[in-house]
This record gives sequence, C-alpha cells and structure tokens, in this order.
Amino acid sequence: MIKRILIANRGEIAHRIIKACRELNITSIAIYSEADKNALHVRRADEAYLIGNSPANESYLNKEKIIELAKKVNADAIHPGYGFLSENSEFIEMVENSGINFIGPSSKSVKLMGGKTDARDLMMKNNVPIVPGTTEPIYTIEEGKKIAKEIGYPIMLKAVAGGGGKGMRKIYNDDEFETAFQLASSESKKAFGNSSVYIEKYIENPKHIEVQILADKHGNYIHLFERECSVQRRHQKVIEEAPSISIDESIRERITQTSIQAAKACNYFNAGTIEFLLDKNKNFYFLEMNTRLQVEHPVTEMITGFDIVKEQIKIAEGNKLSIKQDDLKINGHAIECRVYAEDIDNNFSPSIGKITLHRLTSGPGIRIDRGIDISSDVPIYYDPMLAKVIAWGRTREESIERMKRALSEYQICGVTTNMPVFKWILNQDEFLDGSFDINFLEQKLMPLIPNKWRENLPEELENVITVVTALLKNEKKYFNSSSNSKEVKNKWRDLLYE
Ligand code: ADP
Repeated sequence: MIKRILIANRGEIAHRIIKACRELNITSIAIYSEADKNALHVRRADEAYLIGNSPANESYLNKEKIIELAKKVNADAIHPGYGFLSENSEFIEMVENSGINFIGPSSKSVKLMGGKTDARDLMMKNNVPIVPGTTEPIYTIEEGKKIAKEIGYPIMLKAVAGGGGKGMRKIYNDDEFETAFQLASSESKKAFGNSSVYIEKYIENPKHIEVQILADKHGNYIHLFERECSVQRRHQKVIEEAPSISIDESIRERITQTSIQAAKACNYFNAGTIEFLLDKNKNFYFLEMNTRLQVEHPVTEMITGFDIVKEQIKIAEGNKLSIKQDDLKINGHAIECRVYAEDIDNNFSPSIGKITLHRLTSGPGIRIDRGIDISSDVPIYYDPMLAKVIAWGRTREESIERMKRALSEYQICGVTTNMPVFKWILNQDEFLDGSFDINFLEQKLMPLIPNKWRENLPEELENVITVVTALLKNEKKYFNSSSNSKEVKNKWRDLLYE
C-alpha cells in the first residue's frame, strides 16, 4: 500500500497530484526550490521540504537529492508529474534501486522509447506505421542529402534526443541542407547534450492526434480514446481537445489498437501517450511515445469521467486496471487552453513577476487546474505555465461556448498572459469547422502580431533580456519613478539589436 507520495515536481501538476492523494487518503509530500517558497503546491501539500536553489538542476532536476529526501521522509512512492525527471530513465532506475515505488513505467520501457530513432525502429518492427525516414542518426551532410533525395523533399531534420519542439528544421532542397544540419545539431547539443539528428519526411499540413493508454503490471492494456493537439506554436501545444474532430470511428478503432500494440512493444505499464501525425489522406504515422502523464490529460478525464492520476497510483501499487475497455465510452467533448505567463507582443517571452489578482471562474462544465494563487511568484527559472482552463460540453460547440465564457471571466493580473490568443482562436472559422492543422497558428495568427523583433531575435537573447529585466527590477537605481519593466525590456532589446 502506498501511504506517502513525494511529488518531484511543481506548479499545476504538483497541485493536481496532491488532489489525487487527498482522495486516496495518501500523504502528499511536496518539494520546492528557493524560488518556490510561497508556491501554491507547497501550501497545499501535507508536507513540504526545501530541496535546493532556484535553478532546476539544483532542485527539481537534482536526482540524488530527491531520492535522498524521499528516503529521509519515508516516502514509499515518487510521482514525477511531467517534464523535469519524468522521462529520465537514469532517475527512474535510481528510484527502482532505492526500493521506492516509481509512479510511472519501468526504466526499461522509458529507455526503449526515449531515443527517437530507437523508438522508430522498435515501432517499425512491431508493425506500427512510422513517418517515412531514417531509424538511425545521420552523421554527414553527404549521407543526409542522399537520404533526403530518396525520401523526397521537403524533409525534417529532428533531434534524436528531441523534446519540446527543439532541434527540428524543415528543409526544402539540397541548398538548405548544410545550414539546417548545423543548426539542428547545435540546437540539439545545447538542449539535450546530444547533437545527433535524423531525417523524417515532412508531412504537409497534418493533424496531431494522440492516444491515451493505461496498462497495469499484469499485462492488461486499455486506451482512453484520442486527443487532438493540432493548435500549436513552435511545435508546442496550445489548445488540446478530446475527442478529435478529424477522425471517424474506423480510424479511431485503428489508431487506438495501433497504440496498444505500440505500448505492448515496450512492455509498458502505467499511463502513457502515443503521438501520431495524421495526413490529408487520413493516414496516421507514429511520432513518439510520451512515457508519462501528459499536460493535456484532463480533457480525457472529462470525456471519460475517469481519474488518470488516481489510476496511476493504483497501478504502481500493483493493482489490476480498475476498468475494462468495454466500460469506457466517450461522453461529450472537452477542450483545454494552456494559460502561460507570456508577453505576446514581445515574441511570447516569459512574463515574470507576482500575481496581484487571481479571479477564478467556475460554472457548468468548467475545471481549472492551476499552479498559482493571488501573490504567487512567477519565477524565471521554470516553464511559465500558470493554469489550464478545461471546458466540457455535451457537444464540441457547447464546450467552445463554455470555454469562451470561462475565459471572459478568468482574470489574472501582475503578469501578462496568452489568454487573448485563445479568444482569437475560438472565433476562427478554421477552428470552428475543424479544418485547422499544425500550421494554423504560424500561418494565421503570427502575421497579425506586429513584432519587428520576431524574425530577428534568437530565443536565447529573449531569455537574456527577460533575466536582465527581472534582475534590474530589484535594483531600483536603474529605474526612474516612471519607468516600468516593459520600457526597460524594450531599451535592452534596442541595445542588443544595435
Ligand atoms: P518533440 O518531441 O520535440 O515534441 P515531436 O516529434 O513530438 O517533437 O513533434 C512535435 C511537433 O512537430 C508535431 O506535433 C508536429 O507539429 C511537428 N512535426 C514533427 N515531425 C514532423 C514531421 N515529420 N512533419 C511535419 N511536422 C512534424
């Protein structure tokens, strides 16, 4: 029996896991960094312990410290949430060896699905269709060009260790190859410490469809239907919904069965997601497997009435799945909007500061999973997602109407958020009629945002500006009484641009 769970995460997902613990009468144990001393998850957990300094590698990514603390406070399980160490097979192996229960898959399954080329190879051998391309890294430009010719342009170079949309480059012809290869490799090296890249055919205007699966440690597998996550910016999901508006019953049957096949291929247990691209001819191709809980799991919970986090804990305890495939039905429609502290006018750079007003909304069909409260800090060190607004309705139309209402009521002050973007998306014909694809935001929204820096300023410089501005905020001498952080940021941007 699991009685005490250490949650190796922060923000909304830590808060979400605390709720599951409470319902199961399990003690929740939070960890936090210096920057998160006043964070909501710290206040809501039954116990909370300082783990280290603010940078993630000194706190939420510090494997040894987390396991040491878990032992010290007698935690009998660790829930990793998503991000941070959730898909780090080395960490999972360390947890396994410590005798503490890991609430997630085995380190072996995570390792099998961790490298994109290895995962593609495994899927191919198990009759799961993959995006055409290589199942080995590309080592030279000549080799890459040869393969690109065979597959046919356009192609994509992708990081073997990829994640978060990083290390990807689209290439239309031989002339673009060399520069793209160098950029993708160096971005990958920087982000993942591994410069290996491989080739995939670029699928034109696809949809991103993914399937939630659950499996126990006794070899039982079920799926919880699909989610559509085609509204993306920089290959990162912005809005997700379930079920998908783009597939019919026959594709649903095939894509869910294929997902179970994929999960079985790596002897998977616990919650996982198989991601696919769906092309214009409704062919689907395996993209990757996320061997953890997804950010967007609530939309699946809303249409099935099933608590995925509680089931994760029960699976980790060694219980059989508590539900059979035939007992699961799709009920209505759910949409999720990821609310980020982002400054839309400044290339969506993180908007850091203190939350000075947080007026929640509720009402029929609305759920908000949040990591903030009034007076919460939004630190520079972590992903600036503040909350997820989820709307359920009997039909897609009703869930959209409810989402619009909820967004018009939900108020956050102190930082700027991306909420205006949702209001725009939810009124677009392409979104309403379902004709949108993964390029919808880049093609339709981005040109509307006047931002002379967008094309020119690399992401790294944006991050530097944000950090410098944050530091200066505490150094009053750099401000005169009338200046605000936006002005200072713009001055820095001007300087850097020159
Ligand atoms: P990551 O692991 O970095 O998130 P994924 O492989 O999951 O990368 O892809 C993220 C997104 O990038 C997809 O949802 C899709 O929008 C785009 N993408 C990835 N591969 C392709 C491809 N071969 N063709 C077209 N778009 C792609």
